[in-house]
Amino acid sequence: MKIRFLGAHNTETSSSGLMCLLLDEAVALDAGCLTSKLSLGQQLALKAVLFTHGHYDHIRDLPMLAMNCYLNEGVVHAYGSQEVKDALAEHILNGQIYSRFFERPVLDFHVLEPYATFLLGRYEVTPVLVSHSIPATGYLIKSDGRSFFYTGDTGPGLSACWSRISPDLLIIEITASNSFSEFGRESGHITPELLKEELIEFRKIRGYLPRVVTVHMNPSLEAEIAGELKEVARVLGCDISLAREGLEIRP
Ligand SMILES: [Zn+2]
Ligand SMILES: [Zn+2]
Repeated sequence: MKIRFLGAHNTETSSSGLMCLLLDEAVALDAGCLTSKLSLGQQLALKAVLFTHGHYDHIRDLPMLAMNCYLNEGVVHAYGSQEVKDALAEHILNGQIYSRFFERPVLDFHVLEPYATFLLGRYEVTPVLVSHSIPATGYLIKSDGRSFFYTGDTGPGLSACWSRISPDLLIIEITASNSFSEFGRESGHITPELLKEELIEFRKIRGYLPRVVTVHMNPSLEAEIAGELKEVARVLGCDISLAREGLEIRP
């Protein structure tokens, strides 16, 4: 499995993209900057788009992907919770903000149940609930004997999540630096010191620590976050790095 980070931040500038990961150029995880980073041919070749939750920075490019597919006889195979489907249908693809694509054959939305593992081509996919300000789902993906877990947006308190998964690679959100930990607890986001607590809990439950790659950083706080994560990695003796746009890794 090859994971390419199209967008690894929570806001967009000329040098940062909204959350979007691309697995083997075929499956997208979130669609924050999906169409702005892919050619038309690459968009039409997508096999599936998995959504973690309905916040704008994760769904923004779905309407444009649907329009490109509509204009070129393609189909968007989207996967996510009922909440994501409802939010898109009511607030964006509602005939006012944009076309009612749910009423056309171009948008094929599969509603997922938490913890119900399914096969998506050669990938085994399990949606796992995480802790955010609105209902949100992370994804455990396994293929070729390797696995990774992408949290999407989440706050602390993930021990129930850790008891269900044992990935080789953890792709987890770190939105802000330690001075925002109280904000993180209230709004459902993670800072480096909160990550440290989560990883200690992970190791207690699982007996090891996976390689960690962080996403969803606030670009203005990135240098501070990087410094604080270095300290967490040193104390725990594990591999933690920050994703950036264009990075390619394998679990
Ligand atoms: Zn969110
Ligand atoms: Zn977000």
